[in-house]
Amino acid sequence: VTFWCAVALVDGLAVPGVRILEVAGVITAVERAPAEPGDVPLGTVLPGMADAHSHVFHRALRGRTHGDGGDFWRWRERMYAAAAALDPALYRELATAVFAELLVSGWTAVGEFHYLHHTSDGSPYPEAHAMERAVIEAACDVGIRLTLLDTLYLAGGVDTALSPAQRRFGDASAAAWVDRWTALRELERPGVTVGAAFHSVRAAPRAAMATALALLPADLPLHVHLSEQPAENADCLRATGLTPTGLLHELGALTPRLSVVHATHLTDDDVALLGTARVTVVMCPTTEADLGDGIGPARRLADAGCAIALGSDQNAVADPFLEARGLEYGERLASGTRGRFSPRALGSTLGVDGYASLGQTGGIAVGAWCDLVEVDAHSRRTVGSAPDQLWLSATASDVRRVIVGGRVVAADGLLADGTDPARLLGDAVAELDGSSR
Ligand SMILES: [Zn+2]
Repeated sequence: VTFWCAVALVDGLAVPGVRILEVAGVITAVERAPAEPGDVPLGTVLPGMADAHSHVFHRALRGRTHGDGGDFWRWRERMYAAAAALDPALYRELATAVFAELLVSGWTAVGEFHYLHHTSDGSPYPEAHAMERAVIEAACDVGIRLTLLDTLYLAGGVDTALSPAQRRFGDASAAAWVDRWTALRELERPGVTVGAAFHSVRAAPRAAMATALALLPADLPLHVHLSEQPAENADCLRATGLTPTGLLHELGALTPRLSVVHATHLTDDDVALLGTARVTVVMCPTTEADLGDGIGPARRLADAGCAIALGSDQNAVADPFLEARGLEYGERLASGTRGRFSPRALGSTLGVDGYASLGQTGGIAVGAWCDLVEVDAHSRRTVGSAPDQLWLSATASDVRRVIVGGRVVAADGLLADGTDPARLLGDAVAELDGSSR
């Protein structure tokens, strides 16, 4: 297929009249040229956007946790209650609905940080990989590109066993997790790849991380929650004498294939270690604000050498533009200056760098996946904006056609077959409410 874009954002620059040629889902040419007969005409086109950190089931809590205050840890109890109600069928239904919302909102690829592995008492489902199949089939049904980040989760805290609510997240040992993870790779298919994650230094003991690092392929995308809350740093320091970043460094885990999620509460040494190792930092600005985590040092991390990616995390918000704005706005509020991340840099966090975090090739460039997002540059929100600054004015409501692998998978808020994500979400949440009662 060949797409002709009235304007395309190529490497952050707004270029008029761009033809994008696609073969087998990959971009094979990008050229400034007039439209030819048979080209699919598009308006203003952005590169596909990668949601580098998602937990689909947290969506069930949206708009329901604001009544009685509390902190991260109290929110976590509500989140565990939602998890307890999910079986493979319901998980698939909810994941389909959430992926549908992400896709029509302009997220073309998603890294699902997945730890709902087993039945509620921790024993496996009769069908192998039942919960993982649920996520994979949901992504395929909807048409979003998926990197399934299957997660090592063995402990409830530093030197603490899993709580009853956490039992289904666990595996018998790090080696048992690697075995299950290795078998899971057989489920890879076009549009679906399997990556790995350590939940956090709270949930993945030091020896278990060492075992897993020795057994996992060296180039595999590996993600870990890092220093989202000060309590995690305090526990880790008490147990090991190291910060979570220091512990990962000692294990040899800090390499360019690693993505650390949040990185909110860091020391100067942590920032230097992450930057020197060229680690990717996945910021989740709307979630970090919602949960009161704090503002991570994104600019300092980028200056130190880190790539920055973005994630929707708890999916209380499904909007790549609001995540990009949240990144820049957090920096502005904390520093008192503007332009901490240029519009071009904001585009890279969603495009090239977000895709790289998921082990994928993004951007509008030869060799990248043909994943594109057409936006309305003339809506009441966007009209008058410079196309290369749409990150600062558009919202998910401005997303028109969404293309993944050269295929139009969504248009004007609906999936390609006309399905409304709002209906899918309403049905899934109602079903979840029914089964939690
Ligand atoms: Zn998370």
